[in-house]
Amino acid sequence: MSIKPRVRFAPSPTGPLHMGGVRTALYNYLFAKKHGGQFILRIEDTDQTRFVQGAEEYIRTALEWCNLIPDESPWNLPGDEPYRQSERKPLYKQYVDLLLEKGHAYYAFDTAEELEFIRERAKAAGSVNWQYNHISRTQMKNSLTLPQQEVEERLARGDEYVVRIKLLRNEEVRLNDTIRGWVSVNTSNMDDKVLFKSDGMPTYHMANVVDDYLMKITHVIRGEEWLPSAPLHVLLYKYLGWEENMPQFAHLPLLLRPDGNGKLSKRDGDRLGFPVFPIDWENKETAETASGYREKGFYPDAFVNMLAFLGWNPGTDQEIYSLDQLVEEFSLERVSKSGAKFDFEKAKWFNQQYLRRRTGAHLSEDVKTELEKQKIAVPDQLASICQLMKERAIFPADIIEEGDFFFKPIQFDPQSVSKKWKPDSASQLRSLKDRLSELPTFTAAAIEKAFGLELSERSLSFGQLGPIFRIALTGRFTGPSAFSIAEILGKPECLLRMDSAIQTLG
Ligand code: GLU
Repeated sequence: MSIKPRVRFAPSPTGPLHMGGVRTALYNYLFAKKHGGQFILRIEDTDQTRFVQGAEEYIRTALEWCNLIPDESPWNLPGDEPYRQSERKPLYKQYVDLLLEKGHAYYAFDTAEELEFIRERAKAAGSVNWQYNHISRTQMKNSLTLPQQEVEERLARGDEYVVRIKLLRNEEVRLNDTIRGWVSVNTSNMDDKVLFKSDGMPTYHMANVVDDYLMKITHVIRGEEWLPSAPLHVLLYKYLGWEENMPQFAHLPLLLRPDGNGKLSKRDGDRLGFPVFPIDWENKETAETASGYREKGFYPDAFVNMLAFLGWNPGTDQEIYSLDQLVEEFSLERVSKSGAKFDFEKAKWFNQQYLRRRTGAHLSEDVKTELEKQKIAVPDQLASICQLMKERAIFPADIIEEGDFFFKPIQFDPQSVSKKWKPDSASQLRSLKDRLSELPTFTAAAIEKAFGLELSERSLSFGQLGPIFRIALTGRFTGPSAFSIAEILGKPECLLRMDSAIQTLG
């Protein structure tokens, strides 16, 4: 790519950022970095009625957690230009005026009640989808139908109004989307969208196009739900005389529910048994909460790796990619058209792969944090415990749960233990204990060897002694090698546990 791309992620602060939104941010980031360009974050807060306290902070924290740091954003300003649309308010009117002047837009004075009345009437007559368009506008109160003097009077006395785009009756709008190919819509199927309101605020469409132009955005990479708006945006570029600067559009496939049944939406919250948000969310005003991947124990790089594969693939079998490797490999050409089914099991698989790749020191740190959260004392042998339990864990907390016997006193469940604990078990265990107490070095190999000798000398099968040794040390029937567990526990603790099992289960 000869020119360095400038792309933007443009969320509206109307609630927590959905994981689909994070994927959009990620693809923008990857595309920008791959081509040495800029990744910009713009807050689209023109609709003040949908503003939610804390949402912008959430967006920032979530992107930071994922390590998707914008080059330009409201909290990282390279120049004087604001990156929140509410702060850019004075910029838009001149462009609305330009459209009015050129006859590509008009004032409309219809009140909300009047519009509602017309919609209801149309519905009653069997037309459910009434639109303000090139036909209906001839019957409405606007600067195309009212005498010019009345329009001027209304504006002068401060009547409320909106500015609508004036679509031609039969114009074919075409755009070549990088992902979807040619998309073509006729204006007879579009409506005269509101661009601006008399309170001085532009609507999403107007602000979005003006800002993409002013911020010199080269590629608009966003979710498929914005595809229906794209023809309108193309027309705005044309009517404003900015066709040469029109960005290349790329509309990303939807994220679908695991059963493929519909879009994975914000409203799915925790209903489907997994989070749909990157980090925990709490709406201070409504007390509504939703859980996030961070708090579930996901590693950010695993989460990002998983998201990258929802709609894109590198065309090879490799699935584990660091963010830098993703930058290297990413291309919009390999983004698929069809919706990407989300699979929580696969998400967990990614996390497991990342957990397995953690160095011992890092994993110990993760588990230590978790232990502190759960107010459990941190054992000295934590590093060895982590090493041993690693294969059985998806999240750091699993190491504590699966290896509970390393962290908390053992609770024997007499009913299940009785299946393995036979009348001879106590004496067999005592004999093993005596042999182990003689060992000069208490390593897994030495313990295993002593155990083997005990079996052969006393003519026992592994099935007779193995399970009771494990039960004595862990209170469990399954787990990693009991010899390795014994080594980590150390000789005194191991002998103590064997003693206590003999006494309790006798
Ligand atoms: N503000 C829109 C949103 O919330 C941005 C759409 C776009 O990227 O153009 O997703």
